[in-house]
Amino acid sequence: MIQKKGADFLERSRASKSGLLSAAFWSDKLMDWSMKDEAFKVQLFRFVDAFPTLKTSESIYDHLQDYLSQPGVTPPPGFNLGMGLGGLAKGIMAKTMSGQITGMAEKFIAGTDAASALPQLKKLWKDGICFSVDLLGEACVSEHEADLYAKKYLDLIENLPRTVAEWAANARLESDHLGAIPRTNVSIKISSLSSRVDPIDTEGSIRGLMERIVPILESAKRNGVLINFDMEQFALKDLTLELFMRCCERVNFEAGLAMQAYLRSAEQDAQRIIDWAKRTGRQVTVRLVKGAYWDYETINAEQQGWPVPVWSRKLDTDACFERVAKRFIDQTPRTKTEGGVKLALGSHNARSIAAALAAVEKAGLTPNAIELQMLHGMGDQMKAASVDLGLRIREYVPVGEMIPGMAYLVRRLLENTSNESWLKAGFMDNASTERLLASPHREFAIDPGVERIAKGPERHALSPVAPAVGDGRAFFTEPMRNFAVSEQRERFAQAVARASVPTVANDATVDQAKAAVARLDRFFATWRDTPYATRAGVLVKAAQLMRQRRDELSAVIIRESGKTWREADADVCEAIDFCEYYARTAAELFEPQRLGRFVGELNQVWYQPRGVAVVISPWNFPLAICCGMTVAALVCGNPTIVKPAEQTPGIAKILCDILFEAGCPRDALAFVPGVGETVGAALVRDAKVALIAFTGSKSVGLDIVQACGVTPPEQPWVKKVICEMGGKNAIIVDESADLDEAVLGVRQSAFGFCGQKCSACSRVIVVGGNHDLFLERLVGATKALVVGDPTLPGTDIGPVIDDAAARKIREYIAIGSKEGRLEVQLEIPAGLEAKVGKPYVGPTIISGIRPEHRLANEEIFGPVLGVLRAQSFEEALAIANATAYKLTGGVFSRKPSHLDAARRDFRVGNLYLNRGITGALVGRQPFGGFGMSGVGSKAGGRDYLLQFVEPRAVTENTMRRGFAPGLE
Ligand code: NAD
Repeated sequence: MIQKKGADFLERSRASKSGLLSAAFWSDKLMDWSMKDEAFKVQLFRFVDAFPTLKTSESIYDHLQDYLSQPGVTPPPGFNLGMGLGGLAKGIMAKTMSGQITGMAEKFIAGTDAASALPQLKKLWKDGICFSVDLLGEACVSEHEADLYAKKYLDLIENLPRTVAEWAANARLESDHLGAIPRTNVSIKISSLSSRVDPIDTEGSIRGLMERIVPILESAKRNGVLINFDMEQFALKDLTLELFMRCCERVNFEAGLAMQAYLRSAEQDAQRIIDWAKRTGRQVTVRLVKGAYWDYETINAEQQGWPVPVWSRKLDTDACFERVAKRFIDQTPRTKTEGGVKLALGSHNARSIAAALAAVEKAGLTPNAIELQMLHGMGDQMKAASVDLGLRIREYVPVGEMIPGMAYLVRRLLENTSNESWLKAGFMDNASTERLLASPHREFAIDPGVERIAKGPERHALSPVAPAVGDGRAFFTEPMRNFAVSEQRERFAQAVARASVPTVANDATVDQAKAAVARLDRFFATWRDTPYATRAGVLVKAAQLMRQRRDELSAVIIRESGKTWREADADVCEAIDFCEYYARTAAELFEPQRLGRFVGELNQVWYQPRGVAVVISPWNFPLAICCGMTVAALVCGNPTIVKPAEQTPGIAKILCDILFEAGCPRDALAFVPGVGETVGAALVRDAKVALIAFTGSKSVGLDIVQACGVTPPEQPWVKKVICEMGGKNAIIVDESADLDEAVLGVRQSAFGFCGQKCSACSRVIVVGGNHDLFLERLVGATKALVVGDPTLPGTDIGPVIDDAAARKIREYIAIGSKEGRLEVQLEIPAGLEAKVGKPYVGPTIISGIRPEHRLANEEIFGPVLGVLRAQSFEEALAIANATAYKLTGGVFSRKPSHLDAARRDFRVGNLYLNRGITGALVGRQPFGGFGMSGVGSKAGGRDYLLQFVEPRAVTENTMRRGFAPGLE
């Protein structure tokens, strides 16, 4: 039956004349070439994405030229991009490109707003096709932007029904098997209705969303409009389902929801909605689609090390689509009064459609029990076939401006030019009917998506494999908690509620510290001569113990340092990573390596530890940094003194206890919580100490470097100092930057953990005309941050570490307010400081800062961001490079040559392009700076351990009386 229905549908589609528009798309020269040349396609689509932000012909030409001259790209024949083009020719080229892109956009986007789209909607109706209007939008980064979206939706809902009421009646489009359905159908994206949608705080997000959505739904109810909740990224799926159900229970509007068959969870989710609808007696429509964010979901899951939420084969999605469709169809309500789900089928695949039509017939339903939906500008032949067959067919019609429309447009372009596109196969490549209608239900032995994650360590090879260490596999970063998963969220919340910080007085005395050094020094030879694999085993065991206690450790960090949930979780993951990573990289140092293959000469090199190490750590990564330096020293065979920051000794004590539990001998590790100026200073100067690993401020770091330069007579070595210090990090926002990404990336980099990261962004340099819009959006986005108690999941901004820090930050705000203009300083809710017991300083943005200002040069270490202007990208780079600190930096730009220039000339230890500048991962982004940011090789990098050891070489003459083994 499926084959028969499919063949009929296909035949009618191919016979249709109305499909010319879609067919023409593929014959378009640029698209045609894109499908032939993958490298060209990538660059062309990247250019298309940047295009709307480019304001002049010069800049359009310049970017196009830049993209299409990337290595490996061949522009289509006749596409003259010669460097020598004169102004006129450039203008013509820019105009041609603008015309092409606008033309493409117009195929998929019906107008800039509902009013301009009306003629197209009316024409559709005349052609026998109904619609669902969707407002394209940029990422909503502020509450102001969310208000604007809400207003636009309300305008649509209040005005559209009046206009469409004048159109001629069409029973096929206005009724289903149970009776009348609304003419006006509007799709909403929940992420556009609040700047604070985050599954980590599902309840808070739903509360915020309901405030804006409920009035929209009430208006929809009054005006007889169906509101469809679109489905976006997987991370928002559960939240969207929950919100949808609660909205339906609150307002009795005509309700629709999109669900995605590419999700592995699609069947359970579908059943959940069906059960809910039956239970509550609510009738709703589900638009079943395959899903538009497949690449993103796959890429993101792999980067995070999380299970891939989507099927990995297109075929699996197609099969799931049929299964879910059948499930909905079989349980479709048969009477007006019973609760249940009515199906709208969003597909351009004749096989998927035929399968659903067959299921409808089998279930004894009339064809109007389901509705077909297709995208505007796609599959027009199939729409004509649907009309021909007397089916209800609806177009999903996006409206909006060019910039917000680009993400949508690029998704459509990718889809249409993909080799997996059914439409392309069906109408351009003219594949055979059998192939097009082949069943997707197949069993496979392996699942590439599952394999991809399972084999991550081998594929990425982030570390050497040390057979004697851990699981014998290469290192892989510990996946962070996925707070979109309710069980993970709940377990974490319970841990936070239970946690208490061990009480540790910073009362170690100088004498005690010295005694500890002497004790460890006596143990040095034993620890040095312990096989490295035994030492590495301690690290792997410690990682395992930390993994078992992960949420508890995060909770202690939250309570002791004021970190928010995600920040604390990342701190613990990083600590685990340091253990696993250094355990593996140590193997390379301690296995003797033979140099050359000379007969009669055996050359070997290996490393030995240095002696007692003193670790002096800061409070801002109270577990990760303390752990990283400590385990690096230990695994290399150096007995280690841990002198934690005075603000966070509790978590450091837990770390030491874990290391002891993991098998570290009592005499190889000493926990010495004391005051930096006395105990720290004495440790640094102790003649029995061979090595200092310090992370902290510039002033203390330089003091340590100086102190270690003094070598008393009783000290038979020169001390080694590893010294990581501060930063004054800049992000450049270029003219072609994606502002959605730049605003959110800068906000996170500047204000995550209140800017108390050495990697934090404290200067943002905006190039050219973007300045005012960027600043306005950044200020709006910053106002959306929630200042609160860090034990609560919805808090973005917790306290600063202590009163001294608060005082210093406030002084800088006063200085900055004189140097520039105070744009925003978030208020602290009354009573919060008393409740949390720590001081707060609200995120602050100061504009009009110039390179010579103090705010542009001195490390503040708090949530204060200075905004600078630059006339050109070159000037921005010069400003960025103008401080003595050289730690992190970032660039948001869509101009390839600017990214190249930044790679070359933005002189910092860690440069991040088109992303935030914090959150370096062990083994993936080895971390550390130079200049006044430190002397030392990157933490979490291949060279790091070399600093904890000394190399030795042994050469043996193996020749005796002219003979040596090995001569052939
Ligand atoms: P800090 O320099 O005040 O303290 C760091 C450690 O040094 C603490 O354990 C402290 O007790 C100890 N100390 C203080 N005076 C000492 C002395 N005279 N002799 C020996 N030890 C002494 O720094 P902090 O406030 O804890 O941390 C914030 C600083 O750390 C910022 O400047 C930040 O940029 C920097 N930091 C750098 C990195 C990096 O990797 N480059 C990472 C994190 C933090």
